[in-house]
Amino acid sequence: MKALSWLFALWMGAAAAQAQPTPAPCGTPTPAQPPFSEETALNKMAAPPPYVFSIFVHILRNDDGSNAAMSDAVLADNLQRMADFYRPHNICFTFVGRDFIDNTGWNTNYMTSQIGAMHAVNPHNDAIDIYVHRDNFQGSGGNSYSIPSVFCSVAAPSSFNFEHEMGHCLGLWHTFETAAGAECPDGSNCASAGDQVCDTPADYSGSQSNSGAGCTHTGTQTINCNGGTFGYDPPTRNIMSYWWFCYSEFTAGQAARMYNTINATAALQNRLTPQDRVISNATLLGEIAVGAQNSIRIGNIGGAGDVLMTAGAQGICNAGRFVRVEPGTRIAPTGANSVLLTINDLCEGLLFKAPPPTADRHPQPTTPAALSETLEAFPNPFNSRLRVRADLGQATPAALRLFDMSGRLVREWPCPTPAVQGRLDETFDLPDLPAGVYLLQLQHSGGRLARRVVKAE
Ligand SMILES: [Zn+2]
Repeated sequence: MKALSWLFALWMGAAAAQAQPTPAPCGTPTPAQPPFSEETALNKMAAPPPYVFSIFVHILRNDDGSNAAMSDAVLADNLQRMADFYRPHNICFTFVGRDFIDNTGWNTNYMTSQIGAMHAVNPHNDAIDIYVHRDNFQGSGGNSYSIPSVFCSVAAPSSFNFEHEMGHCLGLWHTFETAAGAECPDGSNCASAGDQVCDTPADYSGSQSNSGAGCTHTGTQTINCNGGTFGYDPPTRNIMSYWWFCYSEFTAGQAARMYNTINATAALQNRLTPQDRVISNATLLGEIAVGAQNSIRIGNIGGAGDVLMTAGAQGICNAGRFVRVEPGTRIAPTGANSVLLTINDLCEGLLFKAPPPTADRHPQPTTPAALSETLEAFPNPFNSRLRVRADLGQATPAALRLFDMSGRLVREWPCPTPAVQGRLDETFDLPDLPAGVYLLQLQHSGGRLARRVVKAE
């Protein structure tokens, strides 16, 4: 809460320093720290794209459950729109769940200082939380509270801010940012001033009020810099500008900034969706879309045994095709085997369509044993020894596996302990494992738990 108060103070300072346009599309505060240098940080990336983030959406409603800030249909449109902006840059999203938070004040008269209380209702440590309010708040249509961030708010009237606030979450500054100094339109200080991204032209606060024919800038504001006087040609279609009525793109430099931020931010890495899905006796409700450059494989890693696909499932493994798993489809192994759904380098993620993921994807209260499921791995990053602790709440057969970022199984441990008492506490020596990002996965009879772990250099 102390940090939040500090951020709020920072936000108030920024608000006082410059008049907010109406409606202001964003209340994200002035960055406290410079972003990562594209050129230097790119060389240190722990894992290459694609990056697929899990998204959990909280729809605000009034106390009595009425006046939902956004319908599921509009939400789906907004998530799809956001995904379309990021997909060309190999950043994608998996919509993992939606719940309702019933609080009239937060829905219709939300104050950003309430983020702590609101975020405490049902936070996710493995998904980026997005809150949707009925009304603009404090003159803003959105706020990510910090840069980077693992949660953000958007107001339904300005719902196109999904893509903008997510940009802040992933490390992007406004194109007109001056916290590091004003960017000179001649590009001479583009790496150190403005948004510190060189392929976004210099912008200035309020530039969008000088719109001519729609998205054409007609302003005449000038700035004295680098020994001259320069006019502006702001990036009117950039999603991190305030030209919200013209949003259509991120630049390659912004994508590099987001990659670097992801690789330097453990909290964001924890919210990446595992690209390999191990499904055991699961009923799928959804569609798996395969991008043009990708492939998909449905196989069996549990040893010998057939895979049963029923109720309209089609397994098509060619790039550029779709694999559709119709509602009600059951993909199940025979015997005790599990099914590996390999989605290597796939940036589509699992795009769930109607019906949307309902309520919470946490285990239902009717299965209290499952509520206590935990999987911890530490230290993270680790050097050579990794301690893994798990509590499954009940005795169950289990297997612990480690995958690399290409989906390759690099280590597998039998886990007799959970089968006895539901708990696991083991330390593993991994001195020979190459440095990098890995996915630790605990598969048990009731599902699976996963944690992203990093082997340090
Ligand atoms: Zn913003």
